[in-house]
Amino acid sequence: MTSIQHNLQQVRQRIAAAAASCGRDPQEITLLAVSKTKPASDVAAALAAGQRAFGENYVQEGVDKIAALGDAGQPEWHFIGPLQSNKSRLVAENFAWCHTLDRLRIATRLNDQRPAHLPPLNVLIQVNISDESSKSGIMLEALPELAQAVAALPRLRLRGLMAIPAPEQSYARQLAVGQRMADALASLKKHYPSVDTLSLGMSDDMDAAIAAGSTMVRIGTAIFGARDYGATTHNNN
Ligand SMILES: *Cc1c(COP(=O)(O)O)cnc(C)c1O
Repeated sequence: MTSIQHNLQQVRQRIAAAAASCGRDPQEITLLAVSKTKPASDVAAALAAGQRAFGENYVQEGVDKIAALGDAGQPEWHFIGPLQSNKSRLVAENFAWCHTLDRLRIATRLNDQRPAHLPPLNVLIQVNISDESSKSGIMLEALPELAQAVAALPRLRLRGLMAIPAPEQSYARQLAVGQRMADALASLKKHYPSVDTLSLGMSDDMDAAIAAGSTMVRIGTAIFGARDYGATTHNNN
């Protein structure tokens, strides 16, 4: 067994245990394998071990990997990094999902740039749930207006919400943040039937995120090992 295959098994077991301990079906929770800075060969190893959804933070690095891997094993690519408008076309043309939508201007560009032969781009609106100093994500108060505008764009499919909460050591605080996100998702669902996804939870807060209702956890290091930014050639977006 390769170490990636072994690590994937362990992460899947952790998800199953977290789901079991709060009475949820583990099938409701998608594992997004975050492959940023890792070579295409690592993604290929994960695909061979049955992993389908992969997350990339840097547009060009992701596009290069998508081209290198092709359709074998049917990977599903998620863009999870900060998105600048000059890179929106590459995301619209290459990815199946974008988790970091936080501006109507970028939503409009993604909508206009999504190729006709592809299904609508699945989008999550990124919410700034706890880290007020962060520049990414919108405040919850602004969500209804942005959601309404995004839902009206035919080449985007509004699937839900994403957050990167500020690090919290305490489970209770992680859970409280997760519940605010889950509440926001529940009210969004009432208006938009396409909404079904809460992208929340990384290695350190996965259990609380799952207890709160996350449907997609984003895990990198525990699958692919520590990242060596110094050795990679990606640029900053
Ligand atoms: C890098 C990254 C992850 C994964 O982080 P790990 O600590 O490697 O598990 C998850 N979500 C986002 C948005 C990331 O940028």
